[in-house]
Amino acid sequence: MPSPRDAATKLVILDRDGTINADRDDYVKSPEEWIPLPGALEGVARLNESGFHVAVVTNQSGIGRGLFDMATLNAMHLKMHGLMAEVGARVDAVFFCPHGPSEDCNCRKPKPGLFEQVGQRFGVNLKGVPAIGDSLRDLQAAAAVGCETHLVRTGKAEGLSDEAVAELAAQVPGTVVHADLRAAADWLIRRERSRKAAAQAAKAQAAAGGASAG
Ligand SMILES: [Mg+2]
Ligand SMILES: [Zn+2]
Repeated sequence: MPSPRDAATKLVILDRDGTINADRDDYVKSPEEWIPLPGALEGVARLNESGFHVAVVTNQSGIGRGLFDMATLNAMHLKMHGLMAEVGARVDAVFFCPHGPSEDCNCRKPKPGLFEQVGQRFGVNLKGVPAIGDSLRDLQAAAAVGCETHLVRTGKAEGLSDEAVAELAAQVPGTVVHADLRAAADWLIRRERSRKAAAQAAKAQAAAGGASAG
């Protein structure tokens, strides 16, 4: 019998800067500065092929700080969607927090507001939904709504020692560490396949057991 999770929309929630595209200390402020990380777009395509919907949740305090405006953010996302489409990848929705740290909103990660918006929009319980990001606040926001946390060693986590990464991941128990988004995608897909295989084997065994008992 399928669990409620199997029946629901299969969803993965991704951070943007440092996870899908290269981060910058001075903020990604224009479509020109929106540059995908190696393999990231392909990782999303592979997730889509395996039946996963993909939502992006991203802090964009550059808006609140006056570094760029909404039209520019839309242009960045237009570029993202265009580059995704070129490799057969699709992001279903982007949720962003435009606020600065001093505005005390509920959507700026590590607050869970953006994740809650995803749950409402997709009509899914976020418990166990994989969330992938490159910084502690991604993991904290995801964990706050019961998501399964995944850390990629790109963006903010790039260049950290194995020890530092382990320390970071340990702050949110259960976090799985991956080299990058492509590797995280492959991990999720492999697990999905092994779960399906296990379910099928269990089913076959139950059928065989039923036959011999009958
Ligand atoms: Mg990030
Ligand atoms: Zn906000």
